[in-house]
Amino acid sequence: MPRVLLLLLAVAAGIPGWTSMALAADAETAPATPPNIVVIFIDDMGYADIGPFGAEDYPTPNLDRMAREGTRFTDFVVPSAVCSASRAALLTGCYHVRVSIRGALGPGAEIGLNPQETTLAELCKSQGYATACFGKWHLGHHPPFLPTAQGFDEYYGIPYSNDMWPLHPEDVARIARNPNAKNRWPPLPMIEGTTVVNPDVQPSDQQQMTRDFTNRATRFIRQHADEPFFVYLPHPMVHVPLYVSDAFRGKSGAGLFGDVVMELDWSVGEILRTLDEVGVDDNTLVIFTSDNGPWLSYGDHAGSAGPLREGKGTMFEGGYREPTLMRWPGRIPAGKTCDELASTIDILPTIAKLIGAPLPEHRIDGKDIRPLMFGTPAAKSPHEAFACYYGGGQLQAVRDRRFKLHFPHSYRTLDGRDGGSDGKPVPYQQARIGKALFDLKADVGETTDVAAEYPEVVARLERAAEAFRSDLGDKLQKRSGKGIRPVGRLGPDDARLETKGSQ
Ligand code: MG
Repeated sequence: MPRVLLLLLAVAAGIPGWTSMALAADAETAPATPPNIVVIFIDDMGYADIGPFGAEDYPTPNLDRMAREGTRFTDFVVPSAVCSASRAALLTGCYHVRVSIRGALGPGAEIGLNPQETTLAELCKSQGYATACFGKWHLGHHPPFLPTAQGFDEYYGIPYSNDMWPLHPEDVARIARNPNAKNRWPPLPMIEGTTVVNPDVQPSDQQQMTRDFTNRATRFIRQHADEPFFVYLPHPMVHVPLYVSDAFRGKSGAGLFGDVVMELDWSVGEILRTLDEVGVDDNTLVIFTSDNGPWLSYGDHAGSAGPLREGKGTMFEGGYREPTLMRWPGRIPAGKTCDELASTIDILPTIAKLIGAPLPEHRIDGKDIRPLMFGTPAAKSPHEAFACYYGGGQLQAVRDRRFKLHFPHSYRTLDGRDGGSDGKPVPYQQARIGKALFDLKADVGETTDVAAEYPEVVARLERAAEAFRSDLGDKLQKRSGKGIRPVGRLGPDDARLETKGSQ
């Protein structure tokens, strides 16, 4: 039978695999069956921490498979190299400064992602998706800000970072020196919906987290295989303190960090296996990326940014460029690399197009990157200019597809010193960079200032920076922006999360 006729018959019969194959020829056509979406968001993973981006000390077979069957994005960035800010950007499609989530929220925070913002989950819900979040939230731990108030049908996880607990190494060391010293951290709760189900997470619980959140995600996929679903899986690992289940302890032969990455790789394999088993593999978009780069002061418990300069907490490439893979059989080209600039802020508007959802009415910053995802020949980054805001709102750099202009600012660095060992950090020192232009295509390590050779590029990026400052402000210049929307604030009558530490 001629192929065209076969495809027509398959479409008429509603055979999903054939339908997506038939439509793969036209990247601009939304699929007849809206795709399921799985976003796997790792914490503090370095650019070179997985096989497809150069890791050699331990195997990551499932991520290798994802790269083989999907596309590797080598210039995929987050707008800020800090946990809460990066998560706000992913879920709203906005620069974190626009939605006023800066830095990392702690257990004492009385703010959160404003419920007025439109999240990726709410976008999916508007089109009838089942939605779930399993893992680390970190956008406000009181009930008005938790995932179930932000478009997720289900939530199970920790409300903020896994080191925000009484066993934080700095507090343990301080109390060892002075038994009367006060611990900064309340017990870490585990939450289901808006209820604390474990008021005091222990090391034995942390050992199970990668496994538990993965199992929750695969169970949710099985339960919702016959309707569209969105699963957000923000793993707390490889953020310190590192924990791994017995099945992976010692498995890498490359230390605890390698073991933890191998368990995350196992998690990816479980997701892919489940999608296949329930028959939705070829209609599911899976995105794998991280919230920020490696926490280098933790040394052998931190990852590696490979050729990139610095790590988490800086807006050098090592802080905000993430190892990113996307897979959707029949739609996203297999075994391809995309070197164009794209970002987590692009995920929301791109998914809006894929599922036929209207964009939020308020302004967002992300762009539709379907041409990059689908490998359209000669597709270019939609970002003429991209703002590199540090968490607190300093516009530290502005870049385009090729060049990056740093503005004078201080940053933390080990300056060539080794990091800590066995879960204990060494202190950073402060350094300063002046105005400097780097050609990222020739010098991804940001070593050589080429401003003198490209005055017109400097002038263009200066103009772009000025537009960002007027819109989103710049703490370096003590300016506030016209386009900033308010953070969510806990009101006196709002429900509060009752934890062991809250009384
Ligand atoms: Mg992080």
